[in-house]
Amino acid sequence: MSQNLNKVTLFLVATPIGNLSEASPRVIETLKNVDIIACEDTRNTLKLLTHFDIHTRMISYHKFNEEKASQDIIAFLDEGKSVALVSDAGYPLISDPGYTLVNEVAAKGYTINTVSGPNAALNALVASGLNTNHYLFYGFLNSKPSAARKELRDLKDFPYTMIFYEAPHRITKTLRLCLEELGNRRAVVARELTKLHEEYLRGTLEELCEIESLKGEIVLLIEGKEKEEVEVDFNDLKEEVDELVKEGMKKKEAISQVASQYKVSKNDLYDFYHKS
Ligand code: SAM
Repeated sequence: MSQNLNKVTLFLVATPIGNLSEASPRVIETLKNVDIIACEDTRNTLKLLTHFDIHTRMISYHKFNEEKASQDIIAFLDEGKSVALVSDAGYPLISDPGYTLVNEVAAKGYTINTVSGPNAALNALVASGLNTNHYLFYGFLNSKPSAARKELRDLKDFPYTMIFYEAPHRITKTLRLCLEELGNRRAVVARELTKLHEEYLRGTLEELCEIESLKGEIVLLIEGKEKEEVEVDFNDLKEEVDELVKEGMKKKEAISQVASQYKVSKNDLYDFYHKS
């Protein structure tokens, strides 16, 4: 066993987001060996457990019983039992329940370990073709359009890729709302990740709004606001050239260096320098 089950531990276990083959040996081993599996929906997790011939006791932990179930789980840990927390798909706590529990278990000082697996947001991001250097995982927008509109307004100037989860019956309305509030931008609808009909619809928000019916599980990714070209004042550039000349650089060389640094034409800067 790759982890020490003798230590009382809460395991946060990521489960498949559609393709059961993505349950790693470590996920299966953990779910087999813990004393209790706390699941969002026991019927759903039972399918996973049956598939892998796992017979561990399940208890339910969902957004409507988080407080009480957290106390029950802490009582199990107090008794020296190990617990795994899973959600219906992907990582627990990522647009899924678990925050209350982890916060309380951490405060109690018990060990918390993660068992890695798929996550819809990251799968979608890496295949999207949008910038992956920096990104924001937003999760679900508010289901009330007026509140969602406000959330989008707050994100309007955000310069990095934004990742949203959305239900299929709301995606068309959400795309329209995004277009209205963020303006037309590159966007990607990532559907049915890791499943047979995995698909990426890449285009602009305007183009995606025209698609008649979008079915299946969906992640929406939208490009961040493009950085505005900074207006370059040639008087400032002239001062920088003078500074370099003062430091001993040849005038022609200084013009060339400053022009390339600010991405302006060397000839334009040369002309400005000598005429002003
Ligand atoms: N905990 C999960 C995770 O780590 O990705 C997310 C759970 S959240 C309740 C469910 C949402 O995740 C769906 O509405 C959809 O937006 C997205 N999602 C989950 N599985 C997906 C899949 N196979 N393809 C596309 N989106 C998926």
